[in-house]
Amino acid sequence: MRLMQDRSWEGCIWTGGSWETGGGSILEIISPASGRVLARGGQASLDDVTLAASQAAGASKVWSSYSGAARANILEKAAEVLIDSIDEVAWWLVHETGSTQGRAEDSVRLTSEKLMSGARIAREMINSVVINTGTRFEQSFAERIAYGVVAVITPWNSPLVLGVRAIAPALAAGNAVVLKPDPRTPVSGGVILAMVFEKAGLPAGVLQVIPGGADVGEALILDPNIAKVSFTGSTAVGRRVGMLAGESLKSISLELGGNNALIVLDDAEVGQAANAGARGSFGHQGQICMATGRHIVHVDVAERYVTTLVELAEKLRVGDPATDKVDIGPLISESQADRVERLVNSSVSAGAVIRTGARREGRFYWPTVLGNVDPSMPVYTEEIFGPVAPVTVVRDEDEAINLANMTSYGLVASVFTSDLVRGGAVLDQLRTGVGHVNDRTVKSDVRAPFGGLGCSGNGSRYGEVADLDEFSTWRWRTIRETSVEKRDSANVVPKSTSERGGKG
Ligand code: NAD
Repeated sequence: MRLMQDRSWEGCIWTGGSWETGGGSILEIISPASGRVLARGGQASLDDVTLAASQAAGASKVWSSYSGAARANILEKAAEVLIDSIDEVAWWLVHETGSTQGRAEDSVRLTSEKLMSGARIAREMINSVVINTGTRFEQSFAERIAYGVVAVITPWNSPLVLGVRAIAPALAAGNAVVLKPDPRTPVSGGVILAMVFEKAGLPAGVLQVIPGGADVGEALILDPNIAKVSFTGSTAVGRRVGMLAGESLKSISLELGGNNALIVLDDAEVGQAANAGARGSFGHQGQICMATGRHIVHVDVAERYVTTLVELAEKLRVGDPATDKVDIGPLISESQADRVERLVNSSVSAGAVIRTGARREGRFYWPTVLGNVDPSMPVYTEEIFGPVAPVTVVRDEDEAINLANMTSYGLVASVFTSDLVRGGAVLDQLRTGVGHVNDRTVKSDVRAPFGGLGCSGNGSRYGEVADLDEFSTWRWRTIRETSVEKRDSANVVPKSTSERGGKG
């Protein structure tokens, strides 16, 4: 199936169910690998934000009156359309985000699963719970209701799946959505989703797609028609977004950065741990919130671990995933490559040892293993978002736990050990929203609750078991057969104690 038959979306935003010229400046969509201009995208102006939010508010009234089954049918159809278009969608992920072909295809499949998960939520959603009042004269219900319009703001690194992980449950619960993708990835983060949902039969106006920068994002958060904000991005921007949402008293879900530890204990299967460490640090060039940012390894296995990690890193092919069979593509921008280089160089100046890599050509950065890393170094303290594996050696389990917790982030932690009870006990002491024993830090399951603590988020969780709590709220409704109020009584104020004869 051809999803994007023509280029009518170029220079446009998706509002009210059609492609309209955006009032913002035209965006050049650039391949991070080749620097080639792929297309010209539209951006919203601040007036477009107002219009999109108000159209969504109108559409949300119709959409929330659809039955759960009707909403589920559309989400299932969207999953089907997406899978049928896997080649075209993967092409955009490869060209626009610098993803490898395999990862791009996995991302399309995961996104389709997420849509199916949304369908399950819509179909099985328990809308109301009866509260026992003890009398047949009064009925009392706790009802789940949609917020109205949800603003979804997404980053460039995995724009398709991160958009859908919020859009699918929001729609399932009966909300309309205004999506603001990152201006670097407006097609895989926005245009494709507009096309998929249109083909799936989503009523006009229920999903609006308005690419734009920080000004568009801020206007969207503050718009009076927006009732709930779902933000995925950096911790620094998340703070600002949280402030704006707080100021306007809106419900907000914040999914932010990570600096995730992989602990390798002395009884771990070292080959498996190193494989998980390599995939965790180098997959998608390290540009994943769940990436392994710190390798904390017991001294007894440290040299074997580092040697294996170096061997794995050196096997990875670096290049343009659009033209070559490669494992490592480009970083998203020159400035991100500058940042990675700076973090590595300053850590090396402070005593870290390059075991392999630390080589750069333009936006390409070679998979790098750094030894002798201590907790004061920038590669340890900061989220790198590049293909770098910093290794820190510890003497025992307690030191490993202390070091892993020595961060303000709290997204994911993994522990490798052959003793499962020991692994569980270590996880219990780690302050993260997600923890795994003998698995990679980068792991996805559409059913599981995903989210962070501390600087990684404000306690929101995405995933089937948690989605309804995130994207719907409760209303208490009671119905009495007859009122308990006295008829024709104008006296609404209780009598004062003196009027009642001075007794308390
Ligand atoms: P970013 O914070 O720079 O941008 C994210 C989105 O926010 C973009 O759409 C951007 O245009 C928008 N934005 C920027 N300033 C804004 C403002 N003032 N008001 C409203 N919107 C604004 O993040 P990024 O660099 O694009 O993405 C990388 C970061 O995202 C990393 O820190 C990564 O860990 C994090 N991330 C977290 C998760 C998660 O689930 N926890 C998933 C993916 C990425």
